Amino acid sequence: VIHMYAEPLYRGTERFGTVFVHRDITKEFEVDQMKSEFVSTVSHELRTPLSSVLGFTELMLNKELKPERQRKYLTTIYQEAKRLTALINDFLDVQRMESGRQTYDKKYEDIVPIIQNVIETQKVNTTIHEFMIQKETNRTIVLGDRDKLAQVFTNLLSNAVKYSPDGGKITVRIYEQGDRLAIDVTDEGLGIPAEAIPHLFTKFYRVDNSDRRRIGGTGLGLAIVKEIVKAHDGEIAVTSEVKKGSTFTISLPLVAVETDPQNDVPIDK
Ligand code: ADP
Repeated sequence: VIHMYAEPLYRGTERFGTVFVHRDITKEFEVDQMKSEFVSTVSHELRTPLSSVLGFTELMLNKELKPERQRKYLTTIYQEAKRLTALINDFLDVQRMESGRQTYDKKYEDIVPIIQNVIETQKVNTTIHEFMIQKETNRTIVLGDRDKLAQVFTNLLSNAVKYSPDGGKITVRIYEQGDRLAIDVTDEGLGIPAEAIPHLFTKFYRVDNSDRRRIGGTGLGLAIVKEIVKAHDGEIAVTSEVKKGSTFTISLPLVAVETDPQNDVPIDK
């Protein structure tokens, strides 16, 4: 996008020419476009849960309802309010990471219990998925921020659930890859078209097709994953096949010490 304007040249008060200024404003244009996309995504994403909260509250205020019905509506209101909170937290996280204000409280942590906890939490949300951990190494200590690492696996596993609407197996494989610890999160879900893969970690990007339109989201989950992984000197990769499933692989530097699990203090061997 080129922005062009004419600037008259004066010597004293006498005009003697004109300069034409061409400025490439592609970057500004893109940033503007992303901002307006952001605003419309945010408004849309906030409006959807808010309108069900309002709708169900109105229903309950205006009608005499049987207790079971009341309970059903209240459950929906509660879930939608929770979704709103999660959304706002995502927005704030992205904001904080981008401004460099995010701090990481890194300690020696065993990745296995972190993943186990995340799986237990995810199990509550589904009955049609089966979760498995395949642990192929005993060296599972990394230097990292426990809560942030948990967020990485929460985002990956909740995507695995969300984008496997027909259920299936979700496998977390933990193994060594050279001097790194690798973790695969594999599902048997919708998969991702090859042309979408390079964009997955871009903020607000969502694969758009009819299968997925009804699956809610902000397009922020993987952008957050990428930022956290980067802050841990890690890497992330994806392989996927449409209608077969996807594998997201995280790799993190392995720590060359063993830790005393009681107090997180590294013991040199
Ligand atoms: P969100 O899920 O909120 O849309 P994400 O950043 O977590 O945002 O993911 C971006 C997009 O990548 C999603 O919209 C979805 O289309 C695709 N995606 C992510 N994980 C998976 C998965 N396990 N299987 C299929 N598609 C996925």
